[in-house]
Amino acid sequence: MKGIWTYHELLPEVENRARMSLGEGHTPLVKSRFIGPALGLDNLYFKLENLNPTGSYKDRFAAMALSRFVQQGVKVCLATSSGNTGAALAAYCAAAQLPCIMAIVDGAPEGKLQQMRVYGAATLMVKDFGRSPAVTDQVMTMLGRLAEEQQTSVQISAYCFCPEAMEGVQTIAYEIAEAFDEGAQVFVPAGGGGLTLAVARGFERWKQQHETARHHVVHCVQPEGNDTIVSALASGQMHPTAVPHSETAISGLQVPNVLDGLEVIAACRRSGGTGFGVQDEHVWECQDWLAKKEGIFCEPAGAVALAGVRRALAEGSLAPEQPIVCLITGHGFKDMQRASVMASTSGNAYLANEAGLKNYIIQLITKKNER
Ligand SMILES: *Cc1c(COP(=O)(O)O)cnc(C)c1O
Repeated sequence: MKGIWTYHELLPEVENRARMSLGEGHTPLVKSRFIGPALGLDNLYFKLENLNPTGSYKDRFAAMALSRFVQQGVKVCLATSSGNTGAALAAYCAAAQLPCIMAIVDGAPEGKLQQMRVYGAATLMVKDFGRSPAVTDQVMTMLGRLAEEQQTSVQISAYCFCPEAMEGVQTIAYEIAEAFDEGAQVFVPAGGGGLTLAVARGFERWKQQHETARHHVVHCVQPEGNDTIVSALASGQMHPTAVPHSETAISGLQVPNVLDGLEVIAACRRSGGTGFGVQDEHVWECQDWLAKKEGIFCEPAGAVALAGVRRALAEGSLAPEQPIVCLITGHGFKDMQRASVMASTSGNAYLANEAGLKNYIIQLITKKNER
């Protein structure tokens, strides 16, 4: 199993013995059967990053991060995460047999923390961490110092903290570049923007390496309640802006401070891409659509790119004949609360006997035919 190491020539140097993989990457690129045609898009594709080993693209980051740890003989992994980065690090730490210790923001959803502890990680929630800027600063400073003492580094999935590990994420772009004979428009959901930057840099890196490579456009999509990047990008400004607090309910994209935003704006613009803001309600609608019209079950953050495509169409800024790719970044199982909202109740019954069952089936079939 090669995982991200298929592209080792484009990745930071890691010896063969230290290369870790749990089968991340090489995710399917599925052509839309329903939503694309319904929107008048002949070439709409979904890149299924939800099918990575722990259910999100963060596995590409963790594979790179832990491989470097093994190579360097690092003995412990320290991180802060409330979600998918934590789960990914926890899994690859288990595989590397390194202790994984996570400082967790106050109020993070228990479901995501459970996945980390399943792999044996410690999830240590700190009062007011992630809520009060002062507490957050104190915790981050302490962690940085402690990491230095312990000859490790704090793992966060952004270029401003972990640039080498983020190169693992660039493999998404390499896979897309290999899949298309023509230029594609790629829609990417963003919190801090690390993923968007990885995709844009990945295409640039690929182009340096392959003379005949096509040009791909990278668009950045954020919930309007956490618009640190996309308005600035769309209106021609250079600088991202922090928001006082995140007002989106989309877990994973609640990043009110500026991480990789400055570089994201520059990189998307160089590619010819722009920014789109989307409402939470539209994201949930797209999540429901993906499940019921395509058979793709993603978490809300994983449906943000599709909401961005709809926004772009509404603004008239999309060439419909060009290939369009939505990154489906995380699995639906990550957020069971949303799943219980999406699960239809009309197809749910407890029946007394075989006659009741028959009646119910006939009823359901007749209803289907009437529609
Ligand atoms: C981390 C994550 C993103 C994007 O994160 P950035 O902070 O912009 O790098 C998008 N979707 C999911 C499911 C994620 O876990």
